[in-house]
Amino acid sequence: MIKKAIFGGTFDPIHNGHLHIAYEALYKLNLDKIIFMPSGNPPHKLEKRVTDAFLRYEMVKTAVRNEEKFEVSSYEVTKDNLSYTYKTLEYFTNLEKETKWYFITGVDCLMDIENWRNYPEILRLCTFVVFNRPGYSIEKVLEKKISLENRYNSKIVFLDIPLLEISSTSIRKDVKEGRKVSHLMPENVCCIIEQLKLYQ
Ligand code: ATP
Repeated sequence: MIKKAIFGGTFDPIHNGHLHIAYEALYKLNLDKIIFMPSGNPPHKLEKRVTDAFLRYEMVKTAVRNEEKFEVSSYEVTKDNLSYTYKTLEYFTNLEKETKWYFITGVDCLMDIENWRNYPEILRLCTFVVFNRPGYSIEKVLEKKISLENRYNSKIVFLDIPLLEISSTSIRKDVKEGRKVSHLMPENVCCIIEQLKLYQ
């Protein structure tokens, strides 16, 4: 059976932390493909300023272009309305019904999932692959995982591996303060940030 994962995120910008967990998921779950899905207008970040969706999409595209098992989808960035994960999953799982679908995410999203629109549908349509992030207690995460699995008869894979302590927020802050960020992301992404003077 073909196994594919959707890796949703704002990717503002994409960084080595994202690529690291994508490779871990690829190898640990023996996936055939990971589809990076930059969000259009993320409902949960409406109050924040987010870089133009197409620019974020371009940064992801350039970051993954050398890995044949990674691809980027413009599905959410080309939508006029808000992008909801359950809609995206419904679309892709309908398109390829024989594929086993996964959804890659950080533990911050798992802990917040009950605030996502139609989240039981999300858990029904795919296997969640959750990576730990600094600041979360493993006991609480496992408690949440078991409670969601029992309530929705779903499968959540929790991967507690050493992670890179990088976030898009810290990168944006570093750029603003004039610090170098080239070691935190693929070179081409850094070039886009420099050329377009993003995050300044
Ligand atoms: P921001 O700091 O703007 O919130 P972010 O760095 O968390 O951004 P997102 O685009 O929101 O990046 O992340 C997409 C997904 O990747 C989220 O599920 C997030 O938890 C996860 N993620 C991001 N950075 C890391 C990291 N360094 N290690 C593990 N997971 C990460």
